[in-house]
Amino acid sequence: MRSFLTWALCLLTVGYSASAAAQPGMGPWLDQALPQVEGEPIQSLKACPDQSLTGGVQLVERPELFRVMSPDAAWGRPEMIEMLTKAAEEMAWLKPDADPIVIGDISHRWGGVLSGHKSHRGGIDVDVGLYWGNGEMLKTSFRQGSPSELDLEANWLLIRSMLDTGLVERILLDQSNINAIKAWTIRTGELSEEEAERIFPAPSSRRWTMTGIVHHTVNHREHLHVRIFCASS
Ligand SMILES: [Zn+2]
Repeated sequence: MRSFLTWALCLLTVGYSASAAAQPGMGPWLDQALPQVEGEPIQSLKACPDQSLTGGVQLVERPELFRVMSPDAAWGRPEMIEMLTKAAEEMAWLKPDADPIVIGDISHRWGGVLSGHKSHRGGIDVDVGLYWGNGEMLKTSFRQGSPSELDLEANWLLIRSMLDTGLVERILLDQSNINAIKAWTIRTGELSEEEAERIFPAPSSRRWTMTGIVHHTVNHREHLHVRIFCASS
């Protein structure tokens, strides 16, 4: 599994580097990062067991990259640890002055019911803080804020860094925050409208539950809920 992931991540990294020069527009990188029902690379990945966790790995705090709010609930599948570590390393490189990422609950060591959550049972869901102001995250807990207080660039880069791993199935966030981040990506030329629509599908779009990555859910004004895919081997 490790060698597959390394191979897949290398491919994605190469794809991104090649497309980075062709801004605006993310081109081949977006095709590789977005899950697809058919075709590469997601055919090598699959949905994970979601009720329990075997072979879990504990995410250990790394002050230069991320803070872990609850170590007892910071157990995830290896793909989860890989996704978070890669994304945090990319953020540290892109935004060296921003706070380390605040990581909320993943799962208990063996998964199962985790108090306060409907999911978070299989090491495949994680709550991740948002950036506010100028790259700030509260150090010990999430915080409430309005969309106008978001650091839109940093939050977009965080989402992009996670998508860059090719392992993200779905991200949940309050629609008011989605709208603000989506509008920023279009306004700055980071994404074309079509690209933004593929990542942040409008709730009114016919197949919104089946397409795109970032979707609205209630009680997610102050953090992202991220679900990952698993390697199929
Ligand atoms: Zn969650």
